[in-house]
Amino acid sequence: MKKNIKILKKKLSNFNLKLKEECGVFGISNAKDASALTALGLHALQHRGQEGCGIVTFDGEKYYSEKRFGLVGDNFNNEKILNKLKGNFAIGHNRYSTTGENTLRNIQPFFADTNAGGIGVAHNGNLTNSLHLRKKLVEEGAIFYTTSDTETIVQLVAKSKRLKTIDKIVDAIFQIQGGYALVMLTQNSLIGVRDPFGIRPLVIGKLKDSYVLASETCALDIIGAKFIREVENGEIVLIENDELQSIKPFPPRKIRPCVFEYIYFSRPDSILNNKTAYEHRKNLGAQLAKENDTDADIIVPVPDSGNAAALGFAQHLGKKFELGLVRNHYVGRTFIEPSQKIRSLGVKLKLNANQSTIKNKKIILIDDSLVRGTTSHKIVKMLYDAGAKEVHVKIACPEIKFPDFYGVDTPTKKELLAANKSNDEICKYIGAKSLKFLSINGMYKAIGFDKRNENYPQLTDHYFTGDYPVKPIDDLGDNKITQLSLLSTASNN
Ligand code: AMP
Repeated sequence: MKKNIKILKKKLSNFNLKLKEECGVFGISNAKDASALTALGLHALQHRGQEGCGIVTFDGEKYYSEKRFGLVGDNFNNEKILNKLKGNFAIGHNRYSTTGENTLRNIQPFFADTNAGGIGVAHNGNLTNSLHLRKKLVEEGAIFYTTSDTETIVQLVAKSKRLKTIDKIVDAIFQIQGGYALVMLTQNSLIGVRDPFGIRPLVIGKLKDSYVLASETCALDIIGAKFIREVENGEIVLIENDELQSIKPFPPRKIRPCVFEYIYFSRPDSILNNKTAYEHRKNLGAQLAKENDTDADIIVPVPDSGNAAALGFAQHLGKKFELGLVRNHYVGRTFIEPSQKIRSLGVKLKLNANQSTIKNKKIILIDDSLVRGTTSHKIVKMLYDAGAKEVHVKIACPEIKFPDFYGVDTPTKKELLAANKSNDEICKYIGAKSLKFLSINGMYKAIGFDKRNENYPQLTDHYFTGDYPVKPIDDLGDNKITQLSLLSTASNN
């Protein structure tokens, strides 16, 4: 048994367990400048992934593909490249990966030839059973070219015995599990798919006769497309001959969007459930203020992640809002650098205390979330070094105690501060005078969902509750669910 587990662990580690992406996807049908519009859409979605980007187009005869490392603006703001991407249909992808293999091969969209014609696939999210599917596919003779879970979807589509591409896709999505939003390009259609719980976001827009699919509405705004609606959970939208057809292969169930899109991930101007992420975050801040028991001279946000929550907090209490920290906008997000050492360095490079506003002040410092505590730890010290009298930290979401498996980059449970330390211990670690997190019920109230009401739609909130809507059966992390699934897999072998 022990030997079995060892062998399986080794095999699975070759499949790059840590490849977790929080990417951005975009697609457009029947548009004259499809590649340029896709580049613009990806540019608006740049916050969802900065490691690489790619566009695949179709001109009625042939597919064209360009994939690059780095930012959209640095790669696709280039007429020569855009002109190479011929055709009126396009899909695009921004890639974010954590410790996964950073090779050109893993940059999307992926492309495959099937017996029903070519298919391009761009994927945001993470499959929770892709390693098991992959193992099965390999045993059956499939050859994998990348280490990404998205290739599993492509292989399943290619392998399906069904005749029509759309049926092959339905076949494939019945086998995959997890959080996913897919944008696909076939020879005569643009297709969008959202996972049965709607964990990852996908919206539909319209630009004249063209349909647009995107991770967020900010990608519709940039090209002047009108927001039509979200792709529903478990829905496939098939766009063919300028018509949109909705296919719902799964039994109906309530949507459970990822709460972290509301808290941190989506761009503030993107619409989630009828409100902008900015409004939701201000409401989270106002709710934090309702739960507040600390007096202070000024409210200071951690820029930019805490801006909206701090504004909501300050406005609710009628307190002074001050930019006590100044951000250097030419440094990427703190999490982007994979190693802890570089991450700490990143925080120092990114922010500086604005002495004039904070000297001798009692400060309430607000951020959207606390994960490893690296940011707060550095900033609190920075504020004290610059002369702050007291620094009280308030976090506009509850304690993150459980990792994510659906496409948001969170560290393992071991590294999640709130999973391992009490409030007092965390407060001591970050060096603050006091520390408070938003309550879970408060979070639901602020976002407009009601945790206590069974009839209300729920959120995917496992970060705080451990309630995983889809069992993460693949992961070999340090929680019980994964250990159990590893044992059962190993003993099945
Ligand atoms: P930490 O410094 O580890 O406590 O991380 C908290 C900071 O990282 C906050 O400022 C958040 O805005 C930001 N953050 C939270 N979740 C993520 C994520 N999944 N990817 C990148 N940054 C994040």
